[in-house]
Amino acid sequence: MVRVRFAPSPTGYLHVGGARTALYNFLYARRYGGQFILRIEDTDLERSTEEAMRMQIADLKWLGILWDEGPHPESLQDLGPHGPYRQSHRKDIYRQYAERLVDEGRAYYDFRTDSELEAIKEKLIASEKPPQIEAPAQIVPPAEARERISRGEPGAIRFRVAEKRDYFVQDLVRGEVRFPSDMVGDFVLVRSNGMPVYNFCCVIDDALMKITHVFRAEEHLSNTLRQMMIYEALKFPLPQFGHLSFILGPDKQKLSKRHGATSCNDFRLRGYLPEALNNFILLSGWSSPDGREILSRDEQIQLFTHERFNPAPAVFDETKLLWMNATYLRALPTEELWARVEPFLREAGLQLPQVENVAWREQTLSAFKTSMQTLADAVPLYRLLDDSAFSVKPEAQEVCAWPEAKKVWQAWLQELRAFPGEKLSEADFLALQDRVKDLAGVKGKHLFQPIRVAVIGQPQGTEVKLLVPMMKKSSLIARAEKL
Ligand code: GLU
Repeated sequence: MVRVRFAPSPTGYLHVGGARTALYNFLYARRYGGQFILRIEDTDLERSTEEAMRMQIADLKWLGILWDEGPHPESLQDLGPHGPYRQSHRKDIYRQYAERLVDEGRAYYDFRTDSELEAIKEKLIASEKPPQIEAPAQIVPPAEARERISRGEPGAIRFRVAEKRDYFVQDLVRGEVRFPSDMVGDFVLVRSNGMPVYNFCCVIDDALMKITHVFRAEEHLSNTLRQMMIYEALKFPLPQFGHLSFILGPDKQKLSKRHGATSCNDFRLRGYLPEALNNFILLSGWSSPDGREILSRDEQIQLFTHERFNPAPAVFDETKLLWMNATYLRALPTEELWARVEPFLREAGLQLPQVENVAWREQTLSAFKTSMQTLADAVPLYRLLDDSAFSVKPEAQEVCAWPEAKKVWQAWLQELRAFPGEKLSEADFLALQDRVKDLAGVKGKHLFQPIRVAVIGQPQGTEVKLLVPMMKKSSLIARAEKL
């Protein structure tokens, strides 16, 4: 049974790189009928917060990447038989395995102080040796060490790198990777403050949670050697590893805040759809066998195999994301699109008199969606329909100064007042515009631009014949009266 996991450190919002790791693991589990586990790696007490954990969980839910085991998405209670799923709740488990390694001679208590260790490293550097710590000549016997610890003396537990030999991993993304064991010296498993380190917790958890495949970011490749040594010492079966390529910004530097939006939350606030972001990150390091780019969740699951991972770095191309978002957005049924757009309009404080009218929503969205790439793009479009936001914009000054403008406005107002209905259809508007033309005796831009100013306060923008049927006659009159 395939068991995969996503193991974020809750130190902030979910980054797109993290979202990709989560998505790949999720799809892999679904593809092979396996299970997807969410594990919270919160042993770094200074940087991890409960709030960040909640934010990351909210981002995963927004993306529709749901887990079979892990903290419950609402209550955060452990869900599944292999918990606890938060490393900060597993300290006793780590301690137990660390003690076992000490008893078996694979690890030792180290009471050397930071400055003593520093001095050792400096000496090694001075004699041109790698600054790797080795066991002291006299290791404190476990019973004595435990006695000293229980008296409050600070001491770390350090893994003993016993053999000098090469380690090999068949990485599912990168192929065979060789690690000479002398890349690392004896390394800490449990710090002198009692906190176990990432490499140790990760192995214990992956083994006890019966993880079969570890797909994670490339930056963890170098951790794999230490982890393999721990697996071996504890006689745990090794999972398969796959280290996913980096995601770079357009300048080919590692994607970071400098490049603008990088967290899922940034993209959500900017009006991206989760299904578009999902589809986009899917293709940042993986491709479909036939090169298709827009793939439904079911298709993604069907096609997802590790053979299609690309070991070369992916470049984050926001223009492409925008295109993908527009594609998804325009394909949404109107009611669904409205449900997504509405929070943006509310957030912007727009007052839209016909907002409860389903036919009006349908009419406005079908006209506007061709000009929208993101949900946030709806705001300036709908603002045109908010009477309280109406004003004559500075760019209308020239038009307002035309002698013809006054004549057009007068005729426009007169005709609107005389119009019998509540709203004008496109045909009503065109007929009315013709009468204004005759009454005012102007045509061409001297007719059209003053009318546009009377409707939206500016001489350029969305076509008036589309906008007028979206507005009530009373709104049009109120606007024209402000000129
Ligand atoms: N907590 C690690 C991170 O957020 C995960 C490492 C792993 O997947 O092994 O990068």
